[in-house]
Amino acid sequence: MATKTEQSVKTLIHGEWNVSESGKSVEISSPHNGETIGQVPSLSQEELEASIKKTAAAQSTWGEKSIQERGEILKKWAEILEERKEEIGESIMLEVAKKRSSAVSEVSRTAEYIRYTVEEAFRLDGSVKRGDGFKGGNPNKIGLAEKTPRGTILAIGPFNYPVNLSASKIAPALMQGNSVIFKPATQGAISGIKLIEALIDAGLPSDLVTVATGRGSVIGDFLVQHPEVDMITFTGGTATGRHIADLSSMIPLVLELGGKDPAIVLKDADLDKAAKEIVAGAYSYSGQRCTAIKRVLVQNEKADELVSKITDQVNGLSVGMPEDDATVTPLINDKSADYVQSLIDDAKEKGATVVTGDKREGNLLYPTLLDHVTSDMKIAWEEPFGPVLPIIRISESEEAVRLANESDYGLQASVFSTDMDKAIGIAQKLEVGTVQLNAKTERGPDHFPFLGVKGSGLGVQGIRESLESVVRDKVTVINM
Ligand code: NAP
Repeated sequence: MATKTEQSVKTLIHGEWNVSESGKSVEISSPHNGETIGQVPSLSQEELEASIKKTAAAQSTWGEKSIQERGEILKKWAEILEERKEEIGESIMLEVAKKRSSAVSEVSRTAEYIRYTVEEAFRLDGSVKRGDGFKGGNPNKIGLAEKTPRGTILAIGPFNYPVNLSASKIAPALMQGNSVIFKPATQGAISGIKLIEALIDAGLPSDLVTVATGRGSVIGDFLVQHPEVDMITFTGGTATGRHIADLSSMIPLVLELGGKDPAIVLKDADLDKAAKEIVAGAYSYSGQRCTAIKRVLVQNEKADELVSKITDQVNGLSVGMPEDDATVTPLINDKSADYVQSLIDDAKEKGATVVTGDKREGNLLYPTLLDHVTSDMKIAWEEPFGPVLPIIRISESEEAVRLANESDYGLQASVFSTDMDKAIGIAQKLEVGTVQLNAKTERGPDHFPFLGVKGSGLGVQGIRESLESVVRDKVTVINM
């Protein structure tokens, strides 16, 4: 089914493609030129109530299908996404101002993710327990611990990877026999709908998924507290994640939230490599990535040299429009650009040096490098989600570990050093989900476990881990 993106886009509700009964919609326009792309339905609670019930009821039949049957549909989904990668990539580019090549590769990466999910699901089994394996146990008991679907999974995605971070929730959920309520980020909803169109075209029974379009501030609490929801898997900001954790009760949560990833550069590091990795890690997609490098902690002895090398690289970044494949493009909205600018202004007022950047045209912020950033500045601690990188000079590696761990966040960190023993020693002290040695922070390869600690999340993603998160144990005891 084709979506006309220049006008009313239909969503998947009650197993059919439709607009909202109320006629209400949310207008989606491009962050970089303000042009309207389309209107997505703003669904009411009443509409959602009926559709969620239908989707929940459809789960049992789907859960009884063989894993082979489910896998065939998902493999077809991956094939269709690959065929439509240019079209869907165009939609991502227009909706979230991501450069064209990255938008298209997001779709290919998603197809690959789905294929791997299908294969991995075939290898996940339950277990058999012997009754006499426990002191005082009974040799006449055999426990069969099977993995069964949780039921209906609420999948909520962020704007920055509207296809990949949605499919990485939906594919494991469906593969394991669940039904799905999918709440796409509003800015990114058209791309999310195209993702689901491909899934239905691949043969998925359409009442297995409800696409809950509408603003999170209006329908989010209703979805999160809905009694038919058996689990929530969410990616987005830490404030929203905490809110969801407060509202939901007695159901499992997987939360992938914000970050303030540090790059720790020791005095014995290969500075050319460090500068290259740091710039790629900090500025790609204008820094709008949870795993972007968001602060550099460098030892005093090498700070000037590193800043000079980073500056050369930053000045070579392309700045402009996503259609031109620029690396730094306008931010998702003016509010976001205002916030990033406020962090830059606060740092300047408190004595930071602007090495390059600090130039703004609307919501396009030029890549900005701030040196001599200190702990009293907001940019030292807050997540900007924009193209700005603070340099914090440190004396000893212990200070880097202390500053890194003082953060409310704990997603990833990089350590740059030619002394691997020292780098590994530091890695072990960092309170984060992942440490990258001599490379930028990033998600993936997608089958690696991916998680944040502290304010950066709860639970683990990654293909095996995501598949395991959407099932529960069901034990049958054979009494002989
Ligand atoms: P966000 O504002 O928290 O929104 C995320 C999603 O939550 C959107 O779909 C949003 O819908 C929805 N939402 C809003 N209020 C809700 C509520 N009360 N109940 C349920 N859902 C609600 O985040 P974002 O701006 O899209 O994404 C940027 C953030 O995501 C950054 O902090 C980034 O670090 C983080 N992120 C983390 C990861 C990771 O894996 N750790 C990956 C990517 C991004 P609307 O769009 O309709 O408001």
